[in-house]
Amino acid sequence: MGSITLNGVEKWFGDVQVIKGIDLEIKDGEFVVFVGPSGCGKSTLLRMIGGLEDTSRGAIEIDGANVTDQPPSKRGLAMVFQSYALYPHMSVAENMGFSLKMAGAPQEDWRAKVDEAADILKLQSFLDRRPKDLSGGQRQRVAIGRSIVRDPTAFLFDEPLSNLDAALRVEMRLEIARLHRNLQRTMIYVTHDQVEAMTLADRIVVLEYGKIAQVGTPRELYEKPANLFVAQFIGSPK
Ligand code: ADP
Ligand code: MG
Repeated sequence: MGSITLNGVEKWFGDVQVIKGIDLEIKDGEFVVFVGPSGCGKSTLLRMIGGLEDTSRGAIEIDGANVTDQPPSKRGLAMVFQSYALYPHMSVAENMGFSLKMAGAPQEDWRAKVDEAADILKLQSFLDRRPKDLSGGQRQRVAIGRSIVRDPTAFLFDEPLSNLDAALRVEMRLEIARLHRNLQRTMIYVTHDQVEAMTLADRIVVLEYGKIAQVGTPRELYEKPANLFVAQFIGSPK
């Protein structure tokens, strides 16, 4: 459960090719970080994996099944973005349980899932509050909680911390690392922040204008950057 394979994946917006033949195998439970400068295609590639963007060429497999033409709802993935809209009129618990409720889960079932997620995210004492009575970090936790309750096979994060201040970013980064240890689920995490990439990743994928410049562990990239682009990006002395 939770392996993701990209075979020759390409994306064109009109005449412009923004993703250029990406081959990648992500193992079950792996924490993979996509890094690269603004505009290199990180979000587009992540959205293609999630099914929010069509794939122009190539194939995407989840657990060996070809999902290239499947809608997001059939992929079993959860997506967490930097901007996360919570419902202001609902409590934290209702926000977190909303998708299960909509899918027809009885109250005791969705509530049990919410309690489980709240435990993991240390949100137990906030479940009856409204989003406006939470801090930025707590709101981001609720957004993550919303995705946990659905028990996804993998999590896709697109710069989830970039709207938070520096201190909170560090705190939430540790939180996400803890979440990964706890759940042991596949996570794909997009960031342009080298520190986030180096500290969170099992493997880092460096993207350069829609192509993979290098894939490797943080250590491999730091010690043996494939080229100057990677070296400069990772901040290693080449
Ligand atoms: P990143 O997330 O790495 O900053 P994006 O994936 O958002 O990069 O964008 C990659 C390239 O694709 C950019 O040149 C961007 O302008 C272009 N792009 C993204 N979405 C669209 C779209 N819907 N239509 C046309 N071009 C797009
Ligand atoms: Mg982006």
